Amino acid sequence: MTDTIFGQIVRGEVSAELIYQDELVTAFRDIQPQAPTHILIVPNDPVPTLADVTESDEPTLGRMIRVASNLAEKDYIDKEGYRLIINCRDHGGQEVYHLHLHLLGGRPLGKMLPN
Ligand code: AMP
Repeated sequence: MTDTIFGQIVRGEVSAELIYQDELVTAFRDIQPQAPTHILIVPNDPVPTLADVTESDEPTLGRMIRVASNLAEKDYIDKEGYRLIINCRDHGGQEVYHLHLHLLGGRPLGKMLPN
């Protein structure tokens, strides 16, 4: 399995603004935030893309979403609302091939896709 910058962040080999870590997932702030809150939640064991997940990843995927919800509350964006995004492969615009969930909020995010 290919290693990426996110694997290095999970293992503490590369610094990031880490905000949460447990036995399944790690969360840190995006280096190029697209909104006042822009957090990435990644599985500790790398899966390249959403298209590669299997049944054994289901607990981790559930944890990623629950951690996103908890972090939204901690960043005070839960009342106004926020958006979760997973980009998958080329057409999805994925740049880093270590599955990650974007948590975005803190301003109106507009339509989901440009017209
Ligand atoms: P995606 O296009 O879904 O693969 O998103 C990759 C995201 O990772 C982008 O929003 C980048 O800004 C972010 N990113 C890349 N390198 C780092 C890093 N070292 N620390 C934090 N975020 C990063």
